[in-house]
Amino acid sequence: MDKEIVAPGDVIGVAEEYLPGENVEVDTDGKLRAQVMGIVVRNERDHVVSVKPLRSSNSLLRVNDVVYGRVIAIPNDRVVIVKIIGVENNGGKMALKDDVTGIIPPSQLLNGKSSNASEILGIGDIIRARVISRDPPYTLTLRDAQLGVVYARCPRCGHELKLKGNDLLQCPNCGAVVRRKVSLIEYWI
Ligand SMILES: [Zn+2]
Repeated sequence: MDKEIVAPGDVIGVAEEYLPGENVEVDTDGKLRAQVMGIVVRNERDHVVSVKPLRSSNSLLRVNDVVYGRVIAIPNDRVVIVKIIGVENNGGKMALKDDVTGIIPPSQLLNGKSSNASEILGIGDIIRARVISRDPPYTLTLRDAQLGVVYARCPRCGHELKLKGNDLLQCPNCGAVVRRKVSLIEYWI
């Protein structure tokens, strides 16, 4: 059966047939209306109809989303400001259309350790992080082995850095070695 996609306000049933589930409201005429754009889910056994929200590439992020972002500033070497550029979606990566800002507070940089932000990442690095706040600017965390730097360039010559292991990256061009908190599950070069 084809998926039934509805927009906010669309009638998806009447109160005599179904109980309103998630993202469904009953209007004054007893009609059940979708509150969000999404896919209709009818539970015939319990007579509940709900709408599973559809995500578009410019939709807002949610708590626990894994995002990719570029480090754009590290004020006072403590807080990390990130421009979020993509979000993980069903195992793939989806680009975000709009600029979304993320902030990593010092407490979310490393497990239980306080360190200077520049010891674990650098400006221009692309990081894999997790969203832990509900609204923008999003608070992000790196407190997981799977989170961290996925791409970085040499601070000395600008060449792409290669993974050397144990949170070390090396420049194949000039030989510089820099320390980063590298994501354990992916590094792009
Ligand atoms: Zn270099």
